[in-house]
Amino acid sequence: MTELTLDSVREMDRKDPLASFRDRFEIPEGVIYLDGNSLGCLPKATPERIETVVREEWGRDLIRSWNTADWIHAPRRVGTKIARLIGAGADEVVAADSTSINVFKALSACLQLNPERTTLLSERGNFPTDVYMMQGLSVLSGGRIETRLVDGEDIMGALDETVAALLLTHVHYKTGRMRDMKAVTAAAHEKGIPVIWDLSHSAGAVKVDLNGANADFAVGCGYKYLNGGPGAPAFIFAAKRHQESVFPALSGWLGHAAPFEFDDTYRPAPGIDRFQCGTPGILGMAALETGLDLMLDADMTMIRFKSLALGSLFVALMEDLCDQHGFTLACPADEAERGSQVSFHHPDGYAIMQAVIARGVIGDFRAPDILRFGFAPLYNSFEDVWHAVEAIRGVMESGEWRNDRYAQRAAVT
Ligand SMILES: *Cc1c(COP(=O)(O)O)cnc(C)c1O
Repeated sequence: MTELTLDSVREMDRKDPLASFRDRFEIPEGVIYLDGNSLGCLPKATPERIETVVREEWGRDLIRSWNTADWIHAPRRVGTKIARLIGAGADEVVAADSTSINVFKALSACLQLNPERTTLLSERGNFPTDVYMMQGLSVLSGGRIETRLVDGEDIMGALDETVAALLLTHVHYKTGRMRDMKAVTAAAHEKGIPVIWDLSHSAGAVKVDLNGANADFAVGCGYKYLNGGPGAPAFIFAAKRHQESVFPALSGWLGHAAPFEFDDTYRPAPGIDRFQCGTPGILGMAALETGLDLMLDADMTMIRFKSLALGSLFVALMEDLCDQHGFTLACPADEAERGSQVSFHHPDGYAIMQAVIARGVIGDFRAPDILRFGFAPLYNSFEDVWHAVEAIRGVMESGEWRNDRYAQRAAVT
């Protein structure tokens, strides 16, 4: 590689076809934000949209807005927009509830598809909520269903005829390692196992082709790369071929075939609608839809290309810091296996990250020792990457991370 300088990095920004998207986000003065994989930035259009929903749709039109502003179809309308980002059909995705709740829906659906099977399978070190939801279902089953966790590299060997569902995160939240969705799904299908893909770190960040991979179910977050705001609605995908076979375990009234008949008996709605449960949070839906509309103006191939370029620049600029200050790469060096984040191990990772944040560069820390930096190609620039590495360099060379105040753990890391 030719020598990297601030000028050469700025040249990358000048040539970047996505550069203009940055102006459509609120980026606070003096902040370099590399945590869009935890909470995406605020699109400038969102406050105005929320203001309209609050003052006009809620404040003035009140209950009528379920019809006049089409609130009732927001989960499907937003789901259709998400579908375009993840290779799904328009009638296969609904925006609803949280990712955790949608994991429950997908797991319980798989148990119905395979009523004789007794194992829910995932990898050790998966995002905790996914595994906790499996454990809750095991208890609910009175012990009939077992939760089994194996090391990530042993998943293929653990696929057998007892497994009712395989639940995996497509891009691992700590290591950023991306699974081969098509190959894993095909291997699971050979044993009759449906696969649930958690796309929390994939949707809006990497190219996803659920139907190209013949996926069964998927879930994901609205508040990460989709920029839907804190606690935004999540989404669930159910392949068309499975939809009519599932009697939802969370059989709420909005998943009923005719909610406004107020029948005493639950009848699932046709298709993906049965994966809705209760009344959707319309303010959150409005913010999520605004984030999606922005993202759909960009091309996913370009997003992926830039995401990898940002990550690889970060890795290259960190090289001498790794040698001198004890960081080791925690994500795949190979771009084909990497999501939209770069992470490093360091034994003093927590304090170092706090000191880096104090310099205005926001990443995050994941126990026990991972510093995590996410790249959101719509608002991160190559120059951001340069300054982030300079901040880390400053923190290490000055030793300021050793200050006691950076050792105090906050509730959210
Ligand atoms: C962020 C994340 C979640 C979050 O679930 P919530 O229900 O929104 O709290 C779930 N799974 C994975 C893999 C995540 O990265």
